[in-house]
Amino acid sequence: MQDAYKREINYLRVSVTDRCNLRCIYCMPPGGVKLVSYNQILRNEEIARLVDAATLTGIRKIRLTGGEPLVRRGLVKLVSAIRAVPEIDDIALTTNGVLLPAMGRELKEAGLCRVNISLDTLDPALFRSITRYGELDKAWKGIETALDLGLNPVKINTVVMRGINDSEILRIAALTLKYPLHVRFIELMPVGTSDAWAPGRYVPTAEVKAAIEAGLGEMKEVRKLAGNGPAMYYRLSGAPGTIGFISAVSDHFCQRCNRLRLTAEGMIRPCLHSGREIDARTPLRRGAGKTELADLFRQAVLKKPDRHNMDGGWRDEKRIMSQIGG
Ligand code: SAM
Ligand code: SF4
Repeated sequence: MQDAYKREINYLRVSVTDRCNLRCIYCMPPGGVKLVSYNQILRNEEIARLVDAATLTGIRKIRLTGGEPLVRRGLVKLVSAIRAVPEIDDIALTTNGVLLPAMGRELKEAGLCRVNISLDTLDPALFRSITRYGELDKAWKGIETALDLGLNPVKINTVVMRGINDSEILRIAALTLKYPLHVRFIELMPVGTSDAWAPGRYVPTAEVKAAIEAGLGEMKEVRKLAGNGPAMYYRLSGAPGTIGFISAVSDHFCQRCNRLRLTAEGMIRPCLHSGREIDARTPLRRGAGKTELADLFRQAVLKKPDRHNMDGGWRDEKRIMSQIGG
């Protein structure tokens, strides 16, 4: 359905857990966040019921995210349950990739169509320091697994931070010359508590794009890529992969926004950067039917703001990215 600003909303990002096996500096504090108890987190059948209800408002695409979705027990069954909702034609996953070698095949067989994998550097020591204790080798094996399984497209998410990993931009962009990977450089967002957020850390897309063209040559714009969301995509000459930019801060792409979010605890969020939430768990657990649940999604669509105000700078939010589902 359309929201108040005539945007077609057909995409629901579902955070399936607030837990994570890494502690990326731009996302989580070192000790992690105060976790919600397991009984507050939606169960598989509850998520499937909400997805089914959301289809009445025109939701057709689901992305599972978190926290780290692969640490949720029963994730494969959840993918199967969502696959069983006939209106859903696309199930994607955003992951740090570490557990993908172990789980990728089962997930694909259950109905997973495609993955986005986070990778901020190709330097093992820097990877460790950005993720606080992750191993690059494991994340890279996750990327290889996704390519081997034919999950398509495989997108790479790289958050650019000045003085931390801006020296890695060319190396990561050059991956697209060798592999059919779709690398997206993401502007650091002022969301939640973030040790990486400091004045000067933020690098605008225009600067990243200019650095790539200076180092690797001119890029041509690519018109269509499956699951094309807010990113703009380009290709280096002869490259099998593409390079995209998610300019959440410098080019609030809100006029192209097509999404709602559902938190792990069952709150529907009309916008990543607005604190407004609609409680779906309480009605769900007291036995609300499909139309009543669909009405909650309808309300969320109608409450979508015309744009976020991240360029207004840092705002302390009650939830951080890993809790909302980035
Ligand atoms: N754990 C999974 C992962 O890392 O891909 C999924 C959840 S994570 C919150 C989703 C995406 O949000 C990741 O690509 C991450 O890089 C991005 N992210 C987290 N905090 C961010 C921030 N402050 N600014 C920009 N992107 C951020
Ligand atoms: Fe975990 Fe993803 Fe956040 Fe990193 S970005 S701490 S992997 S949820």
